[in-house]
Amino acid sequence: MQSVNEFMQQYFEDHTLDERREQAARSPFRRKYYTDDCYWDSRAGTLEMIQSEKVLKASASDATAEVITTSHSPNVHQLRYHLDRNGDGWLIRSVDLWCLSCHGEAGVRECIFCHGTGWVDGRKPKAALPKDDGPRSSRWRRKPRQ
Ligand SMILES: [Zn+2]
Repeated sequence: MQSVNEFMQQYFEDHTLDERREQAARSPFRRKYYTDDCYWDSRAGTLEMIQSEKVLKASASDATAEVITTSHSPNVHQLRYHLDRNGDGWLIRSVDLWCLSCHGEAGVRECIFCHGTGWVDGRKPKAALPKDDGPRSSRWRRKPRQ
Protein backbone atom coordinates (compact mmCIF):
# COMPACT_ATOMS: atom_id res chain seq x y z
CA MET A 1 0.00 0.00 0.00
CA GLN A 2 1.34 3.41 -1.02
CA SER A 3 1.81 5.88 1.82
CA VAL A 4 0.53 9.43 1.48
CA ASN A 5 4.10 10.73 1.52
CA GLU A 6 5.15 8.32 -1.25
CA PHE A 7 2.15 9.43 -3.31
CA MET A 8 2.98 13.11 -2.82
CA GLN A 9 6.68 12.65 -3.69
CA GLN A 10 5.69 10.84 -6.89
CA TYR A 11 3.14 13.56 -7.61
CA PHE A 12 5.71 16.35 -7.17
CA GLU A 13 8.11 14.60 -9.58
CA ASP A 14 5.42 13.96 -12.18
CA HIS A 15 4.00 17.46 -11.78
CA THR A 16 7.46 18.87 -12.59
CA LEU A 17 7.74 16.63 -15.68
CA ASP A 18 4.24 17.59 -16.78
CA GLU A 19 5.00 21.30 -16.45
CA ARG A 20 8.24 20.89 -18.48
CA ARG A 21 6.24 19.10 -21.21
CA GLU A 22 3.57 21.80 -21.12
CA GLN A 23 6.11 24.60 -21.47
CA ALA A 24 7.94 22.77 -24.27
CA ALA A 25 4.64 22.23 -26.11
CA ARG A 26 3.78 25.95 -25.81
CA SER A 27 7.21 27.11 -26.92
CA PRO A 28 6.45 27.43 -30.71
CA PHE A 29 3.30 29.45 -29.92
CA ARG A 30 5.19 31.67 -27.50
CA ARG A 31 7.99 32.30 -30.03
CA LYS A 32 5.47 33.15 -32.74
CA TYR A 33 3.52 35.76 -30.77
CA TYR A 34 5.54 37.07 -27.81
CA THR A 35 8.92 38.64 -27.22
CA ASP A 36 11.26 36.58 -25.02
CA ASP A 37 10.70 38.89 -22.05
CA CYS A 38 6.90 39.21 -22.31
CA TYR A 39 5.52 38.13 -18.94
CA TRP A 40 1.87 37.78 -20.00
CA ASP A 41 0.74 34.15 -20.17
CA SER A 42 4.37 33.04 -19.84
CA ARG A 43 3.96 30.64 -16.91
CA ALA A 44 6.99 32.40 -15.43
CA GLY A 45 7.76 31.01 -11.99
CA THR A 46 5.38 28.07 -12.40
CA LEU A 47 8.09 25.43 -12.72
CA GLU A 48 10.05 26.92 -9.80
CA MET A 49 6.88 26.91 -7.69
CA ILE A 50 6.11 23.29 -8.54
CA GLN A 51 9.70 22.24 -7.83
CA SER A 52 9.70 24.00 -4.47
CA GLU A 53 6.55 22.25 -3.20
CA LYS A 54 7.04 20.21 -0.02
CA VAL A 55 4.78 18.39 2.39
CA LEU A 56 4.33 20.28 5.65
CA LYS A 57 1.78 18.00 7.28
CA ALA A 58 -0.10 14.87 6.31
CA SER A 59 -2.78 12.85 8.01
CA ALA A 60 -4.58 9.79 6.70
CA SER A 61 -7.36 7.42 7.54
CA ASP A 62 -8.17 4.24 5.61
CA ALA A 63 -10.23 6.01 2.96
CA THR A 64 -9.09 9.63 2.90
CA ALA A 65 -6.10 11.81 3.61
CA GLU A 66 -5.30 15.48 4.02
CA VAL A 67 -1.95 16.96 3.04
CA ILE A 68 -0.76 20.51 3.56
CA THR A 69 2.11 21.62 1.37
CA THR A 70 4.18 24.76 1.03
CA SER A 71 5.83 26.26 -2.03
CA HIS A 72 7.22 29.61 -3.12
CA SER A 73 7.19 31.59 -6.36
CA PRO A 74 8.65 33.83 -4.78
CA ASN A 75 5.81 34.33 -2.27
CA VAL A 76 4.96 31.47 0.04
CA HIS A 77 1.86 29.51 -0.87
CA GLN A 78 0.22 26.73 1.02
CA LEU A 79 -2.12 24.18 -0.45
CA ARG A 80 -4.36 21.68 1.29
CA TYR A 81 -4.93 18.49 -0.69
CA HIS A 82 -7.84 16.16 -0.03
CA LEU A 83 -7.01 12.63 -1.16
CA ASP A 84 -9.18 9.57 -1.65
CA ARG A 85 -7.89 6.02 -1.44
CA ASN A 86 -7.69 4.47 -4.92
CA GLY A 87 -6.82 0.78 -4.76
CA ASP A 88 -3.30 0.64 -3.34
CA GLY A 89 -2.69 4.30 -4.06
CA TRP A 90 -4.36 7.67 -3.81
CA LEU A 91 -6.11 10.25 -5.99
CA ILE A 92 -6.43 13.99 -5.40
CA ARG A 93 -10.12 14.90 -4.96
CA SER A 94 -9.74 18.64 -4.34
CA VAL A 95 -7.20 21.27 -3.39
CA ASP A 96 -7.77 24.31 -1.18
CA LEU A 97 -5.66 27.42 -1.31
CA TRP A 98 -4.25 29.09 1.75
CA CYS A 99 -6.11 32.40 1.97
CA LEU A 100 -3.82 35.20 0.83
CA SER A 101 -6.31 37.84 1.96
CA CYS A 102 -6.27 37.10 5.72
CA HIS A 103 -2.99 35.13 5.46
CA GLY A 104 -4.75 31.91 6.30
CA GLU A 105 -5.59 33.04 9.78
CA ALA A 106 -8.52 30.83 10.73
CA GLY A 107 -11.20 32.72 12.65
CA VAL A 108 -11.06 35.97 10.70
CA ARG A 109 -14.81 35.86 10.21
CA GLU A 110 -15.08 38.94 8.04
CA CYS A 111 -12.71 37.55 5.41
CA ILE A 112 -14.84 37.43 2.25
CA PHE A 113 -12.57 34.89 0.57
CA CYS A 114 -12.32 32.11 3.16
CA HIS A 115 -15.15 33.03 5.59
CA GLY A 116 -12.90 32.51 8.58
CA THR A 117 -11.60 29.05 7.69
CA GLY A 118 -8.19 30.23 6.49
CA TRP A 119 -8.63 28.20 3.28
CA VAL A 120 -10.25 29.02 -0.04
CA ASP A 121 -12.23 26.03 -1.25
CA GLY A 122 -10.68 24.84 -4.52
CA ARG A 123 -13.63 22.69 -5.58
CA LYS A 124 -15.80 23.53 -8.53
CA PRO A 125 -18.33 26.14 -7.42
CA LYS A 126 -21.72 24.63 -6.64
CA ALA A 127 -23.76 27.60 -7.82
CA ALA A 128 -23.50 28.66 -11.43
CA LEU A 129 -22.36 32.19 -12.09
CA PRO A 130 -25.16 34.62 -12.90
CA LYS A 131 -26.10 34.17 -16.51
CA ASP A 132 -25.07 37.00 -18.78
CA ASP A 133 -28.38 37.67 -20.42
CA GLY A 134 -27.04 40.59 -22.41
CA PRO A 135 -28.95 43.44 -24.00
CA ARG A 136 -31.96 41.28 -24.95
CA SER A 137 -32.88 40.97 -21.31
CA SER A 138 -35.73 43.08 -19.96
CA ARG A 139 -33.43 44.98 -17.63
CA TRP A 140 -31.62 46.36 -20.68
CA ARG A 141 -34.79 47.39 -22.45
CA ARG A 142 -36.03 50.90 -22.16
CA LYS A 143 -39.30 51.41 -20.48
CA PRO A 144 -41.91 52.52 -23.00
CA ARG A 145 -42.67 56.20 -22.79
CA GLN A 146 -45.87 57.06 -21.06
ZN1 LIG B 1 -9.30 34.56 4.54
